Amino acid sequence: MIETISALLEHAENAMKFVNKGGAFLDAATPVLKRLRANDGDGNVTIDEPTRDGIIALGEELMAAKLANLELKSELYALKEAALEMQKQQDRFIGYTLWETPAGQHIYRREEQDGEPSHYICPTCRDAGRKSILQGNAEVVFCHPCQQGFRLRPSRPIARSKSSYRDGF
Ligand SMILES: [Zn+2]
Repeated sequence: MIETISALLEHAENAMKFVNKGGAFLDAATPVLKRLRANDGDGNVTIDEPTRDGIIALGEELMAAKLANLELKSELYALKEAALEMQKQQDRFIGYTLWETPAGQHIYRREEQDGEPSHYICPTCRDAGRKSILQGNAEVVFCHPCQQGFRLRPSRPIARSKSSYRDGF
């Protein structure tokens, strides 16, 4: 996923270079077109009807292309922002590994790291892009958003069943 996001960002950066090149061309074309129009007005240069029509049409196309270029730039910027946000979301799960509890359930675990104590997060919430730290004790941990409990030990019976946990919250 991280690699996919990096590739997405790279493509967006490359596309932005082309958009900027297109923008530079349009900027360079604008004064040329203005001069052509000015010549038409001062009477010193004779411009025939088809050429005049062509200059007017070109001016309109140039304006439309400039607008499209700006819109493309803003779409690309939004795409880049979205990819960066996705990357940020993914980064929150770095260091977590899927772990099978002795009771046979799967949760994500992170060892003590960067001053944070070791803890578990809910797999369902993680898949939904949410980081829900499981709360509980050495026997059982619980995800509050999902209302789901996970047993950390297989042998000793837990005090309350899963359904009574659900009632309790
Ligand atoms: Zn959850």
